[in-house]
Amino acid sequence: VWENCLSFIEDNISPQAYKTWFEPIIAVKLADNSLSIQVPSKFFYEWLEEHYVKLLKVALTKELGEKAKLIYSIKMENTYGNKQPYTEKIPSSQRSNVSAQEVNVQLKNKSPELKNPFVFPGIRNVKIDSQLNPNYSFDNFLEGDSNRLARSAGMAVANKPGGTSFNPLLVFGGVGLGKTHLAHAIGVEIKDKYPEKTVLYISAEKFTQQFIESVKKNTRNDFIHFYQLIDVLIVDDIQLLSGKAGTQDVFFHIFNHLHQNGKQVILTSDKAPVDIQDIEQRLLSRFKWGLSAELQQPDYETRISIIKNKLYRDGVEMPEDIIEYLANNIKTNIRELEGAIISLIAHSSFNKKDITLSLAKKIVENYVKNTKREVSIDYIQKVVSDYFQMDIEVLQSKTRKRHIVQARQLAMYFSKKLTKASLASIGSQIGKRDHATVLHACKTVNNLSATDKQFKKYVEDLNKKLNS
Ligand code: ADP
Ligand code: MG
Repeated sequence: VWENCLSFIEDNISPQAYKTWFEPIIAVKLADNSLSIQVPSKFFYEWLEEHYVKLLKVALTKELGEKAKLIYSIKMENTYGNKQPYTEKIPSSQRSNVSAQEVNVQLKNKSPELKNPFVFPGIRNVKIDSQLNPNYSFDNFLEGDSNRLARSAGMAVANKPGGTSFNPLLVFGGVGLGKTHLAHAIGVEIKDKYPEKTVLYISAEKFTQQFIESVKKNTRNDFIHFYQLIDVLIVDDIQLLSGKAGTQDVFFHIFNHLHQNGKQVILTSDKAPVDIQDIEQRLLSRFKWGLSAELQQPDYETRISIIKNKLYRDGVEMPEDIIEYLANNIKTNIRELEGAIISLIAHSSFNKKDITLSLAKKIVENYVKNTKREVSIDYIQKVVSDYFQMDIEVLQSKTRKRHIVQARQLAMYFSKKLTKASLASIGSQIGKRDHATVLHACKTVNNLSATDKQFKKYVEDLNKKLNS
């Protein structure tokens, strides 16, 4: 019965949603008209009830008739990673009142906390300043298809830090799509709900600096100890740990300690975990323990609401056609969208002119001109094969001739460097290779350009051609 329901559901929603919300469900038993299913978490249950209850009903009615009933049970692992699941039954009639969506953020005044939280020696009894920005709240993190999963997972974590299966919660996505904002929002919400919890927001860059400093000053143990006291650790831009073996190592130990003690870890990255280079496997595998949720580019509707929200908060009015113009022309980066709004407002108030469409066009042009256009993988393959005077087909072929292999590796290297494509997608576009081959190519190019003069010149020449 459940199989049939599933295939019906699969036909009616996106593959992504199906994979996320239906594949993890386990059918437990069928009695009379009642089907029992087991879901991974309470959050999961609430999400299903909120978003897919109609679909489930239709699917079930088709199979079991009008009297069909669905009974959920929740599989929970306790926070210490104990394997024994404990099961909590919730009849579907009695759905919980608080859904993940209805959380109100109330910002309290910041409590008087220490300005510099990073005094490592004698840290006991010291209150740690969270380093959170209260302006980045859930309230003004607008929801859309592009961020729904990440946002709801963030809320679930904020409701129950360390108590969900989203540990760590890893939020990834391109530049300017809201990773830092969301990371702060989770921390702000936790501080509000659980004032006694120690929350710390830190960028991976600063974390690295602190670690290096602690090694120099011989306070490495204090450094580690400081981080082990934290209840909720938020590390922004962890892709910056790539290539930093010492910092990765210390982070690995801190992470394990926190995780084992049921503390919450929240991470952000501008790449999907598999695409982070030069990172230890054991660390990478831990990043994948919890949930990785992507922030995608916002769709048109979401862009419109983000613009309107920003204008509203700034107390500025703007004609509808200009709002639409902005939403139509700046699509890939919310930070740029906000930047364009700000300079539009600034221009019009400095020059005491109304905000007009022609002013908007000028400003957007500036934005588009100043942001580097992204080259495509096709273009890179063309430039590389022209440079070595070979056909693209040859570059993509299976041949192992040295100069062709090198050209192919250079094409892969530059694709990784200059586009946002994943290793897997680069591989598939350059002669149907897998992601490991691309990774190997990037390493080889780095090694060769350090040891081989002629090769180094290839890299430099191509760099110039591709960046002009
Ligand atoms: P990232 O860290 O991914 O580069 P940020 O978190 O710095 O991006 O976001 C860039 C800007 O866009 C910030 O000013 C942020 O407030 C805004 N922003 C991002 N996502 C949203 C959203 N969903 N709703 C409202 N503002 C957003
Ligand atoms: Mg950021």
